[in-house]
Amino acid sequence: MPKGRSVCIGAPESLGISSIFPAARCKAMDLMPNPNGRLLESAGKWGLKPIMRVNVGHFDEVCIRAFFQRTGLLYELAEENADLILTHAPNFKDEEHYIFVGPSGIQVNASAEAGVAAALTTVYKASSGGFIPHFSLKDFPKYSHRGFMLDCSRHFFPLSVVKKVIEEMSLLKLNAFHWHLTDDQGWRIESKEFPELTENSGYDFYTQDEIREVVSFAKERGVDVIPEIDLPGHTTALLRVLPWLSCKGKAPEEAYLGDVFSIIACAGKEESYNFLEKLLGEACGLFESKYFHIGGDEAPKTEWMQCPNCNAYFERLGLSSFEDLQGHFTCRMAEFLRANGKTAICWNDVTSARELPDDLVIQYWNEFSGAGSVAERFSAGRPVIFSDLRNMYFDYPQDVVTVQKVYSYSPALGELSCSQAPNALGIQACLWSELFSTEKELEERMFPRIFALAENAWSNSRDYSGFMRRMKLESDEAKARGVRVAEF
Ligand SMILES: [Zn+2]
Repeated sequence: MPKGRSVCIGAPESLGISSIFPAARCKAMDLMPNPNGRLLESAGKWGLKPIMRVNVGHFDEVCIRAFFQRTGLLYELAEENADLILTHAPNFKDEEHYIFVGPSGIQVNASAEAGVAAALTTVYKASSGGFIPHFSLKDFPKYSHRGFMLDCSRHFFPLSVVKKVIEEMSLLKLNAFHWHLTDDQGWRIESKEFPELTENSGYDFYTQDEIREVVSFAKERGVDVIPEIDLPGHTTALLRVLPWLSCKGKAPEEAYLGDVFSIIACAGKEESYNFLEKLLGEACGLFESKYFHIGGDEAPKTEWMQCPNCNAYFERLGLSSFEDLQGHFTCRMAEFLRANGKTAICWNDVTSARELPDDLVIQYWNEFSGAGSVAERFSAGRPVIFSDLRNMYFDYPQDVVTVQKVYSYSPALGELSCSQAPNALGIQACLWSELFSTEKELEERMFPRIFALAENAWSNSRDYSGFMRRMKLESDEAKARGVRVAEF
């Protein structure tokens, strides 16, 4: 966009984003999540202007767009007399930022775009009735990975809902949207190489253009979109379209309910690997994240054990268990992803295998699958994202996975706690959609627990009563934006 031109950044109504300012609060700076650095407030306030002059410095303009979409204001890029000045602070960590709001406007220091996006979210949330109170704040997150997963396979959610989820995440400085795109009940990602996956399958799906749109929408908000294509299990939707990929070459029955199905992709045929590499290679090009989730959970080995191809490959590799065949499968997929600039993530089930890719990130969800070895690998320095189902599964009822549980989840594996281990990347909530299909049900599972997730993931301090008071304010604001919040 050429410098010096006024740009209208309106908030499209279809996104469900209101362009009104947050309602006046009883106290100006009740931030959620609670900041880690010192907040200094002073008398006075600065009035936002209908057209703001912005000096973006060396930053990509992408990081200021969400602020202007949210406020409904216009901006023009300017070198001098800027109302908003972005300054590069090379010593700051990725999302660390400093904000100063004073008589001459807003200054933000950060080392990268994600830090600017987080800072401007704070500025936006501190604004009230078109004014921002004078304040300064240096802030930074506790965890680098602050995630939320949405299952769009079991039930499909339209693009507008996906964007709304990402916007709500961003307002709470959650930075990783894990997009569960494939499972037994539906294949939701368009492939130009294999159009049959969506063309005649009857599945609702996201086109490649829509996926790019989501990725860029999220980027403007400091949110990384991590896709998941679940392999080799949870592939009924895939195998129904391409039966030759299964061990017996027969299409499985349609999967209506969430379950663990025994027919999985064959790991003994070279054609399987060739196909999956083409499929993943194409998907890699749609996403900017350095991560790519390849599932790996709940893959029963019954079919593999009876399959001549799987057995021949098993013998050739000199393996001693079929869990190790999945380990080999994971290594091959991860190696391919690495060559495409991506790091693989898998659910902790894959830790049943002896050999795993060196760079693989484990997403922990329970202690039953891959039992024992997750803790060992975590102690040995393997990076782990924590999504314990008893604390982080938002499809569970609110009185089972309670706000307090989400707020106080402090992961540990074996002897090692997250706070002691730099390889604990962070925490992530998961919302599986087997049992609901509407936007309302989705939101009532997300809210208010997502506030507890955000504060747990960002803030070092713990103050549950202060959190509950701010959660009430945040809930009222979310409701004013049209979000359904469950009673608490
Ligand atoms: Zn097989």
